[in-house]
Amino acid sequence: MADAAPWLGPEHEEFRRALRAVVERELAPHADEWEAAGIFPRETYGLMGKLGYLGLRYAPEYGGAGLDFWYTLILAQELVKCGSVGTAVSLLAHMEFALSVIDARGTPEQKREFLAPAIRGEKIASIGISEPGAGSDVGAVRTTARREGGDWVINGSKTFITNGTRADFVSLVARTGGPGSGAHARGCRARAPHRPLGLDMGAAAQDRDDACSIERLAMGLGLLQLGEFHRHDEQRARALQVREQRR
Ligand SMILES: Cc1cc2nc3c(=O)[nH]c(=O)nc-3n(C[C@H](O)[C@H](O)[C@H](O)COP(=O)(O)OP(=O)(O)OC[C@H]3O[C@@H](n4cnc5c(N)ncnc54)[C@H](O)[C@@H]3O)c2cc1C
Repeated sequence: MADAAPWLGPEHEEFRRALRAVVERELAPHADEWEAAGIFPRETYGLMGKLGYLGLRYAPEYGGAGLDFWYTLILAQELVKCGSVGTAVSLLAHMEFALSVIDARGTPEQKREFLAPAIRGEKIASIGISEPGAGSDVGAVRTTARREGGDWVINGSKTFITNGTRADFVSLVARTGGPGSGAHARGCRARAPHRPLGLDMGAAAQDRDDACSIERLAMGLGLLQLGEFHRHDEQRARALQVREQRR
């Protein structure tokens, strides 16, 4: 058994079998069509949420299953077998990259407003870290967030944002310590999706040069917190190198 590992118990393997059946039944038959279209139906989030796969390691209080991280790892392994890497990455960016930071750092109010509906698959989540000038070097992030009245005004550019063209919210990394700059305009715009080499789907968007004012900030993260978030779980399949930067 290629996926067998000593830290996985019979319950993990049972979970894998059930999940594999779902992937083969619900995702794999549509993989070619979705890859050709460059997007998959929004309803897929609802289906996966209804089946309980979008909150495996989050608290039952918010609709999660409270399971260990190995279930999430199995989910990642099995999702890619559907034949559409874009679908798998989009679901993982939603349930893992974007939501884990809210689970770890969100207030109870933020968890009720963002985490719970995303676990149900009713809201789609993105994580917004990368910028045209800041990929691996997260310390070079230039997007700013500054207080204006009761709002946070976000100003900057993000790129390669999976789910970015249709996300209901973004777990956004922005600087709160800098002076801030740019014009204040309501709303932000998602430009045409990128088509990254070897990965045609995932609706990775580029938001550029738009300042947006949001009435309630989904998540305020400092770089130190982001580093802690990524160090938190060393089993994480994708880790970023975060340079601590004190201002
Ligand atoms: C399909 C896809 C989906 C994505 N989705 C998201 C998303 O949802 N949200 C998001 O925020 N980002 C997303 N990204 C962006 C992704 O996280 C970045 O591409 C990644 O962080 C690398 O950044 P970069 O492309 O700017 O490469 P760079 O940072 O320019 O790195 C290029 C190469 O140089 C190496 N390198 C960089 N710095 C150093 C150094 N100091 N020393 C030695 N080597 C170094 C790197 O290891 C790499 O091999 C996505 C990317 C892709 C392709």
